[in-house]
Amino acid sequence: MEVLKNYVGGSWVSSRESKTSDVINPASQEILARVPVGEKTAADLEAAVKIAAEAYKEWSQVPVMQRVQPLYKLKQLLEDHIDELARIITMECGKTYVESKGELQRAIENVETACAAPLLMQSEFSENIARGVDEFMIRQPLGVTACIAPFNFPGMIPFWFLPYAIACGNTFILKPSEKVPLTMKRVFELLEKVGLPDGVINLVHGGKETVDAMLDHPEIKSISFVGSSKIARYVYARGTANGKRVQAQGGAKNPVVILPDADLEVSTNIIADSVYGCAGQRCLAASTVITVGDDKNEIKDRLYAIAEKRVTGYGLETSVEMGPVISGESRQRIEYLIEKGISEGANLLLDGRNPKIDGFEKGNFIRPTILEGVPLEGEIIKTEIFGPVMSLLKMKTVDEAIEFINANSYGNMACLFTSSGASARKFRSEAMAGNIGINIGVAAPMAQFPFSGWKESFFGDLHGQGRHAIEFFTQTKVVVERWPKEWTRKF
Ligand code: NAD
Repeated sequence: MEVLKNYVGGSWVSSRESKTSDVINPASQEILARVPVGEKTAADLEAAVKIAAEAYKEWSQVPVMQRVQPLYKLKQLLEDHIDELARIITMECGKTYVESKGELQRAIENVETACAAPLLMQSEFSENIARGVDEFMIRQPLGVTACIAPFNFPGMIPFWFLPYAIACGNTFILKPSEKVPLTMKRVFELLEKVGLPDGVINLVHGGKETVDAMLDHPEIKSISFVGSSKIARYVYARGTANGKRVQAQGGAKNPVVILPDADLEVSTNIIADSVYGCAGQRCLAASTVITVGDDKNEIKDRLYAIAEKRVTGYGLETSVEMGPVISGESRQRIEYLIEKGISEGANLLLDGRNPKIDGFEKGNFIRPTILEGVPLEGEIIKTEIFGPVMSLLKMKTVDEAIEFINANSYGNMACLFTSSGASARKFRSEAMAGNIGINIGVAAPMAQFPFSGWKESFFGDLHGQGRHAIEFFTQTKVVVERWPKEWTRKF
């Protein structure tokens, strides 16, 4: 069985660590590879930082217009290999092939946006702030930057950061999730061909030990983290205590509100897709669906009908609309939360537990599940489930729904379905979440916008993607210069 190597200084090198963790196909349980995880991975990281710091000296001096040239090549390579990469994502992460291709499309869009770095890094200049004195601001890179990625978007999330970091003149070390390291392994094989100098991009495998080594290393100037809120909070606290710039995206519990004036057919289809897409393992997956007013159960009936017929199975089979969850542990956790909801008084309208999927009997499958009448103080209303479970709630007014949303500790996304512009305007203004959808079920920002998040869903200031990423990966220097006319030399 292949033990994955690190990519450091332009070469594939074996880890110093002999302990490994299995990379498992969540549908078939086949072991796909082994990834080094353990104490000695900290020494791997140390070696990578040394090389990245050396490479930074030269890379930071390369003109930005030249630094983005490899990104144009990368875009082409990603497009040429999108089918192959999508298959790898589905095999190690479980989502459907179509979903895997979708996330790669978002990765490519980030590469395209980062190609605008020459413009986005341009300085601001004020002439004559005093007689003969000019002032300007320049953006300079930070140095060695690091990224820690989660399991649920192995092909996309590193691209919220990587292309911007290197376009801005930094060097970059990526630690993918140990559950899904194969996608980035293949991406780095492609990156080998784009003409980046050795040491500019590096891939170091591992788990907590690698993360802690990153957080403590004085040569690493910034950390970009995406994962659960508990670890995001930890990464932010330890990284900033060590003087680093940190952006840490956390978990979510996303509410969707549907008003009586919404187009019910369109809305319910979009909402079901938001809840069950990627088996609910999206940080922008709808989790709580709130119907406002007296809808006489029409919305519930429609959602039930859509959920019940969603085809669940192995993501590489073309008829399949929903794959498994990432691990047996994750499946058990979701099943525990469903049980908890029932014990708290919810009615289990649709039970997706223990399905039989022909040919994939050992897979981590849960079919679409619906709970209704969950008490507002219940654990299942507050806890991120990260699985294909919808909690249905009824409320009397939009104000009540907004109050409920704002009381939640997470603030990643909130969506409203309506045909009223005024209701939409009120909602987008008052709902406390970083990403708002109006008649949209997954309000994922395009690459030119920051991937926002509020409250427990984000620790930091500047987010990934777009201008925020350019600002995160650069530090501003303000220069004031005096060159009065009378000092002009006469020749
Ligand atoms: P996770 O927090 O378990 O792991 C994320 C990363 O942290 C991994 O690389 C892992 O190796 C590392 N890690 C895990 N435990 C650690 C520890 N104790 N100390 C140091 N490092 C540790 O998250 P996950 O399960 O891989 O991903 C799912 C979570 O990510 C969900 O909560 C989801 O909402 C969130 N997520 C958020 C966004 C967003 O933009 N807000 C996007 C995608 C996923």
